[in-house]
Amino acid sequence: MNKLIKGIMILLLTVLVACGTSDEKEQSDGTNGSNDKPTLSVVTEAGFMPFTYLDKGEVVGFDIDLLAAVMDEAGYDYQLENVGWDAMLLSVEKGEADLAIAGITVNDERKESYDFSSAYFESTHKVVFREGEGITSGEDIKDLKVGVQSGTTGAEAVEKILGKNHENISKYDSNTLALMSLQSGDVDAVVTDNVVADEYVANNPEANVEMITDPDTFESEFYGIMFPKDSDVKEDINAALQTVIDNGTYSEIYQEWFGAEPDTDVLTQ
Ligand code: GLN
Repeated sequence: MNKLIKGIMILLLTVLVACGTSDEKEQSDGTNGSNDKPTLSVVTEAGFMPFTYLDKGEVVGFDIDLLAAVMDEAGYDYQLENVGWDAMLLSVEKGEADLAIAGITVNDERKESYDFSSAYFESTHKVVFREGEGITSGEDIKDLKVGVQSGTTGAEAVEKILGKNHENISKYDSNTLALMSLQSGDVDAVVTDNVVADEYVANNPEANVEMITDPDTFESEFYGIMFPKDSDVKEDINAALQTVIDNGTYSEIYQEWFGAEPDTDVLTQ
């Protein structure tokens, strides 16, 4: 009798162990795509509200929600780290990070050092200035002290007007610092991406600032996800981005953040 019970137990255990093993195996060679892909390292600069910023210590924003949707579609896990603008660019260039997202404009100069996804957002620049400064065009900042975030397309746009490394240009490590220097009176104006300017002006009524855009001076540009040169995940992630745009997920995220339908036809780059 004892022997019989022992025998049954051994049999049961064997079956259980066998099930366990085959389960694990199924997971590791799983065909649903989510378990056989590596965890990617993603870097951002969370000082670019509403695209990527800190809310109670957590990195949030339009870009962060888009990233989550794209990675889910592509079947990758990822670890997101807020490292700041310069460190972000450097770690992608060195291939230490697999990708970066932070309202990063795709341009020819950057394409020499990085790969990019296709475009996911159209942008331009705006001048933010203290009320009453009387700025009506981009050229009006010529004789003013202007704050910019160092190494950005906004800094480039200002250097085109004032001259490269002009003494009236103050370069800051982040957009947030540039805007703070406007409030403290260290600069007369700040040039930054239009949606970031809109968000800042809407959220800071006590700052007494106004803003203008100027399509004759400030060109249209497009944000893309940034990869190291010859990235082997770029194709996958770009295809997932395209799917997320085509299947309406992008529109849902856009509506949540901007309360309007996006014009996805412009994202053809
Ligand atoms: N779009 C600008 C650029 O790529 C600014 C991006 C940012 O400050 N996060 O240069």
